[in-house]
Amino acid sequence: MITIALSKGRIFEETVPLLAAAGIQPLEDPDSSRKLILATNRDDVRLVIVRATDVPTYVQYGAADIGIAGYDVLLEHGGAGLYQPLDLDIARCKLMVAVAEGFDYFGAVRQGARLRVATKYVESARQHFAGKGVHVDLIKLYGSMELAPLVGLADAIVDLVSTGGTLKANKLVAVEHVQDVSSRLVVNQAALKLKRNRIQPIIDAFSRASAHHHV
Ligand code: ADP
Ligand code: MG
Repeated sequence: MITIALSKGRIFEETVPLLAAAGIQPLEDPDSSRKLILATNRDDVRLVIVRATDVPTYVQYGAADIGIAGYDVLLEHGGAGLYQPLDLDIARCKLMVAVAEGFDYFGAVRQGARLRVATKYVESARQHFAGKGVHVDLIKLYGSMELAPLVGLADAIVDLVSTGGTLKANKLVAVEHVQDVSSRLVVNQAALKLKRNRIQPIIDAFSRASAHHHV
């Protein structure tokens, strides 16, 4: 059995055509089914539906052989035990620093102010601000980061931005680029050795079907 870990939503939707290129069709839609293990048209391939942030963990421990995870999530996880053969170039967005409209971010940085930054992406944020020599107190959040500057929890956030619509709706502005993000294929290293004859063709099909190749 080959087990592929995926998250619902944007990553699942953009992965369906890649799976099809590898001859894999899910028999159910994770948005309408409550099942966490989805069968496919292939008896030897199943999908497990997990939180985006949990995909690297399932693959690291071999509970899934293959996974698709955002680069944002992989940077936070650290990538231990994971072979990362492909940038699939799907679910593209940017990790950005954003502040409330009217907050003078560059002025605060120039003055050497200590900034409070709320984010789910603590590792990426720590590296970003350390690289710029900006002093920050990081506050870990698990979602709805956009709220933090509006209610005085933080001066800035580090969050994913794709269209900018959520920032705009909350009167926030992006002020600094941290990292381009897209989703990558991750493979358990032991599984790749033991099941190479079944895993390599999937990697190759994904590689041919995705716009952009090597990491
Ligand atoms: P969760 O809500 O479980 O944290 P999401 O479904 O919001 O997960 O995000 C899953 C992945 O989708 C992210 O890790 C990221 O790589 C990707 N993604 C692409 N664009 C966006 C976006 N605008 N906002 C959030 N995630 C995005
Ligand atoms: Mg989300």
